[in-house]
Amino acid sequence: MPIVRLDEATIRRIAAGEVVERPASVVKELVENALDAGARSIRVEVAAGGRELIRVRDDGYGIPAEELSLAVERHTTSKLQSFEDLTRLASYGFRGEALAAISAVSDFEIASCPRAAPHGARLRVRYGRMGRVEPIGLPPGTVVTVRELFATVPVRRRFLRQDATEVAAIQRVVAALALAHPEVRVELVVDGRTVLATTGSGHLADALVGVYGADVAAQMVPLEALEGGDIAVHGAIGLPSVSRANRQSLFLLVNGRWIESRTLVAAIEQAYHTLLMVGRYPVGVVAVSLPPEQVDVNVHPTKREVRFADERAVAAAVHEAVRRTLLAHVPNQPPPVVSFAPLQPPVLQRRLLVADPSRIGSAPAPVPAEPPAVQDPDRSDGASRLPVLRVLGQVRQSYIIAEGPDGMYLIDQHAAHERILLERLLEQLEGQDVERQQLLEPLVLELSTTHLEVLERYAADLERLGWDVEPFGGASVRVRAVPAVVQRNIERVFTAVLDDLASGGRGATPLEQVAISTACHSAIRAGQELSLPEMRELVRQLEQCRAPNACGHGRPTVVHLSTEELERQFGRR
Ligand code: ADP
Ligand code: MG
Repeated sequence: MPIVRLDEATIRRIAAGEVVERPASVVKELVENALDAGARSIRVEVAAGGRELIRVRDDGYGIPAEELSLAVERHTTSKLQSFEDLTRLASYGFRGEALAAISAVSDFEIASCPRAAPHGARLRVRYGRMGRVEPIGLPPGTVVTVRELFATVPVRRRFLRQDATEVAAIQRVVAALALAHPEVRVELVVDGRTVLATTGSGHLADALVGVYGADVAAQMVPLEALEGGDIAVHGAIGLPSVSRANRQSLFLLVNGRWIESRTLVAAIEQAYHTLLMVGRYPVGVVAVSLPPEQVDVNVHPTKREVRFADERAVAAAVHEAVRRTLLAHVPNQPPPVVSFAPLQPPVLQRRLLVADPSRIGSAPAPVPAEPPAVQDPDRSDGASRLPVLRVLGQVRQSYIIAEGPDGMYLIDQHAAHERILLERLLEQLEGQDVERQQLLEPLVLELSTTHLEVLERYAADLERLGWDVEPFGGASVRVRAVPAVVQRNIERVFTAVLDDLASGGRGATPLEQVAISTACHSAIRAGQELSLPEMRELVRQLEQCRAPNACGHGRPTVVHLSTEELERQFGRR
């Protein structure tokens, strides 16, 4: 084929793919433009996950009518004259690409009115075809309306997730920018409902209320300021009582910009170590300030990653600030405070629980006393679920005593926790994505020949379950990440897993063997004292297990003494 010059429309569409990945990236670009324009108030509106409509209205300084068409062309920006400016840049935009990209893949309109202008102007661009600039009356500021995003890019459109997922991503973008700018009023309206609104008072505390809601904000505390040295850390974090099931509610700012950094997130999570249950994540906004020459923000313009001159020092500062704050507010390291999520609807009233290990796995559910109509088909094993239990105490630091609607329960804390972790691992495996925790400092281990052999044989399975281990010369290996269920004693857990695998392991497949062994050695052990809230949380999680009655090795987790049995034992009947 001869070499030809691509036409402008094609070039634009290719470029658009890089800037505009999904509705949330459009929202981010538009809100950043509004912030760059000095807006005091920004309103974001989306419909149908941003696919049908994204509209961002601001009261910034606007664009003169004669510059409108320039603004949507590529590499046009008012923010940068030369490359030297790049290093000292205070604005978000500078590549002059966003509007060009967005208008290439949507039915786009920009309307703007500079503060001093008698009236405004608007320009419509349909999938890259520019219309004419027309006068229009509107208050000072800019309104960008994006409809039918990706309508002409079917591949991209097909790759969009469900509305709810896109909305969650949009919400995260708007929340992050609102928290980075407490001085700007930010509102997000999703399908006609306001889901986030800050006051623009300039106080972080008010922005927290707007973003997280009053209940959560009330359980957040300002970070103990870390002064001295080049790195300062500010912000606010949630007490352990407001943890979340994912990492979407934690925001990092570096010199006022929202960034993503696995290393810093890991540092924060480690500071919460032992304060949050496994699988729970902190909320908060952690803002790092450091001399601009120590951070490169231009690593990846759309992915929000930055490069630090000394990443370890930044991570250490963040860890220190969070840890100190937590210790100040959570004295004596109390157990995690538990928030009770609503339980699954009680599926069946009663069931004799496993007292005989041989029945595990094959145990047929007793005839349901109620029609099984409420049962979720995916959870046909729901018949074996536990009823809601009330924790009474601990025996021999190994067994939890609890009361249920039909008598007394004794729960083996180790077996129960193992079951919980195993189900979590298997569930994540089904979702293709086992959660892993990056180690701040990789762990270097010297392995025996047997262990090295096992490691080689099970490498793929270990990897799929979240163990990131690489050879490190000779008999040494380096553990870089571990499954998130492994919360402590990484070295012990890892070698115990290798031991298990060396002796054949349990489970039908190698993958299952690794999962069972990982769960077993990560679980709390017998002989460990648990506080009441810890026991409650454990029991609550066990109640939600699909097969709560046996651990991965098939040992029972629960022994049940029915009311009748108790009465019989005491000669009451
Ligand atoms: P960049 O932000 O990188 O400069 P954009 O394509 O996002 O590139 O925007 C191009 C130009 O359009 C900006 O430099 C700015 O001058 C103008 N502009 C875009 N959005 C707004 C807005 N909301 N208010 C004022 N000017 C804007
Ligand atoms: Mg921009």
